[in-house]
Amino acid sequence: MSDRYAIIGNPVAHSKSPWIHAAFARATAQDLDYARIEAPLDAFAATVERFRAAGGKGLNVTLPFKQEAFALCSTVSERARVAQAVNTLVLESGFGDNTDGIGLVRDLSQNLNCAFRSVLLLGGGGAAQGVVGALLDAGAARVVIANRTVSKAQALAARFPGASASGYEELSGEFDLVINATSAGLAGELPPLPAGILRSGVLAYDMVYGRETPFLAAARRAGARTCDGLGMLVEQAAESFFIWRGVRPQTRPLLEKLRGA
Ligand code: NDP
Repeated sequence: MSDRYAIIGNPVAHSKSPWIHAAFARATAQDLDYARIEAPLDAFAATVERFRAAGGKGLNVTLPFKQEAFALCSTVSERARVAQAVNTLVLESGFGDNTDGIGLVRDLSQNLNCAFRSVLLLGGGGAAQGVVGALLDAGAARVVIANRTVSKAQALAARFPGASASGYEELSGEFDLVINATSAGLAGELPPLPAGILRSGVLAYDMVYGRETPFLAAARRAGARTCDGLGMLVEQAAESFFIWRGVRPQTRPLLEKLRGA
């Protein structure tokens, strides 16, 4: 029987992860099966345990369970500890990791050739939490975190020397990379950025993928370079695949295929 993996979340029907991992498995000749599991909001741990007891080897964890997954692990990687959120579970050992940050940084540096020093990160949820440490490790001199609920941005920034917090109205200064890690785009909304933040010379990156969000549309109108989060999705998946299988799949051919589609 093939080794069994899955993405667990709620909702999860939209996830491209099964397709991505099936493509990685074909390309690297790994015998595995990767499914989707929608866990009830109040039964994440029980759903994980059922999958493990049935022989499941590993899980990717998505919205809104990354913090719960962190609490469930017996050991975690340093980057998961720093993020306090887990998106990759190894079920035999109870190990948890977070590949969102390295996925974003690999997309920025390897796929988009983007060097960054001064970063504005919009959002204070699970996705923002997973990437601050990786951005600083990758050479960002400063990361300003702006969130609608400012206290969440403050709590996140307090954990990282090099990060600071702001409300949207107080934002000022020049950034070379502006990352939208909010879910505003899913509702067709735009975080209330002051004029002048999005401009020529900026890379505007939206973690939401597969659509032109109001953030990306506004950035394009302002003359900024734009990119959605598809590359991050593929890169974080490749890192999870490596953790589970010890084999690193190539990402570029898959990304080109997905972009073509
Ligand atoms: P959370 O639900 O944990 O956080 C949502 C964040 O969005 C909060 O900071 C919230 O602010 C903010 N927000 C929501 N609506 C608005 C709005 N209208 N205006 C301003 N801010 C808003 O979600 P995650 O952090 O887990 O995920 C965020 C997004 O990133 C999702 O859309 C997800 O699909 C995407 N993502 C993509 C990945 C990829 O690989 N490409 C990986 C991980 C996530 P407040 O705190 O004030 O409520």
